[in-house]
Amino acid sequence: MSKYDNSFTDELRQRLSLVDVISRRVPLTKKGQNYWGCCPFHNEKTPSFAVNEDKGFYHCFGCGEHGDIISFVMKSENLEFKEAIKELADMAGLKMPEFKQKSAEQIAAEENYVKITERATQIYQDLLYKDAGKHALEYIKNRGFNDEMIKKYRIGYAPKNNIISSTFNNINRDKLTATGLVRIGDYGPYDFFRDKLMFPIFNAHGQIVAFSGRSLDGSEPKYINTSDTELFHKRQTIFGFNFARESIHRNNRSIVVEGQIDAIQMQVHGFGETVAPLGTSLTEDHIAILCKSNRNITFCFDGDNAGQKAAVRACTLVLPFLRDNSDVKFAFVSGGKDPDEILKKYGADAMKKIIDNATPLIDFLWEFANKNFLINTPGGRAQAEKYLKDCTSKITDKIFQNEIESEYNNRKFNKWHKWKQQKYTPTIEIPDVDIMTINVIKSIVQTYPELAEKYMDFLVSLNISFDENVQKTDLSIDDANKFIVSFKLQRYLKSLQDEKLKLLSNIPENAGDKYRNKLKEIDENIIKANEKLELLLDINK
Ligand SMILES: [Zn+2]
Repeated sequence: MSKYDNSFTDELRQRLSLVDVISRRVPLTKKGQNYWGCCPFHNEKTPSFAVNEDKGFYHCFGCGEHGDIISFVMKSENLEFKEAIKELADMAGLKMPEFKQKSAEQIAAEENYVKITERATQIYQDLLYKDAGKHALEYIKNRGFNDEMIKKYRIGYAPKNNIISSTFNNINRDKLTATGLVRIGDYGPYDFFRDKLMFPIFNAHGQIVAFSGRSLDGSEPKYINTSDTELFHKRQTIFGFNFARESIHRNNRSIVVEGQIDAIQMQVHGFGETVAPLGTSLTEDHIAILCKSNRNITFCFDGDNAGQKAAVRACTLVLPFLRDNSDVKFAFVSGGKDPDEILKKYGADAMKKIIDNATPLIDFLWEFANKNFLINTPGGRAQAEKYLKDCTSKITDKIFQNEIESEYNNRKFNKWHKWKQQKYTPTIEIPDVDIMTINVIKSIVQTYPELAEKYMDFLVSLNISFDENVQKTDLSIDDANKFIVSFKLQRYLKSLQDEKLKLLSNIPENAGDKYRNKLKEIDENIIKANEKLELLLDINK
């Protein structure tokens, strides 16, 4: 039907909910498997227009109109196929792919480009094993690379001089600068990469389209990459993908690490499905590329704050791609180490453990919300709730979205509210000192002077007047002791609760760690006291 790439229309269908798109024009109500509304294509007062989200089509039982998400936009807005695709792409936040026919000139230019980068790679590879590249070779071998790996990944060395601009001095300057390898300065052409360890960047067809150069003298930035060219778009290129593609398919998952060396080391240590973004930040395009094969991604980040931030960012990017059968997880490498170091020091098994113990995305978000908001306070809980809601709203699969929302609702009830009711409510309702309790205590004091002695300070603090005319208690000395201890604990709980309420009713503007820690400390003490109390009450039964 069209010259449009099927994978793009598939992506649109996967990303967008048919019900969402139709709901913009027709109010729909769910009844059974389908959504129903009044047909936008004929005049009717009772709904006979059915939408099936799972199967991705709509059907009108009145007039027989039938179609999918694309035909709906075409018919309801009277658009051409291409215009409808454009509109849907906008809704999905996707860029329209270019479908221009390549001109002969363009094809020739691309061939030229790849010839130059291929030849440059060979030059860099040779130089790595020459005198000029000695320090580069030493560095990469120290990072655990053997000759075989160096050869496979075609690692090389860009010397200090202008080797590329001088080697290609008979080639048209525009063709040379188009590759990003050479720039034109005030004194003529010069090489962009100088004194760098060179990692070629391959496109999906295995052609070299760019390079990533690592500094060898400790200068920052550690890595510089070819600037974007006609054939290389950093945002859309994943390092190691050409090598990983088959494993990603075979192992039905991909692993994303932060650095290029990490990615290579992972690949050679048996995690062939590992890739890395170029530079530090992951983009939506990267996720889209990985999701073409499957939607199972394990992200592996540093355990530090930056790693947590990177994970949160990855979540935001990956949420729209999530489906009910996706398996997205987060593994954290702690102690300031990276996968490369883990593999070298502890071996592939240790790395496998880290990957196997990765936290599923749903749990990661839940833990993140619990860690980053003051869930002990109503305001903090509201913020955490908004955060989670905001995250789940990014999931385009509506049924799956509802499932996750109700999962979070359960957790909120069990971990925030139910817990609160169980642990706090009784302590709030403990009466100050009721007359029954006073009488029991008086009896105990009368019967067991040794207990009166033992808890003197506490008993005095109660301000009870003790007199002789009290009946002796029926309690054994053990039970009498427990009675006093549990009463003491209840008083203690009450004081903690009061302190907590006082703190909560007066949250400082910029509640910092000190405030948070104080609340945490009180909560911990409340839990401890409650546990002790429960233990005592259990024994009493
Ligand atoms: Zn109709």
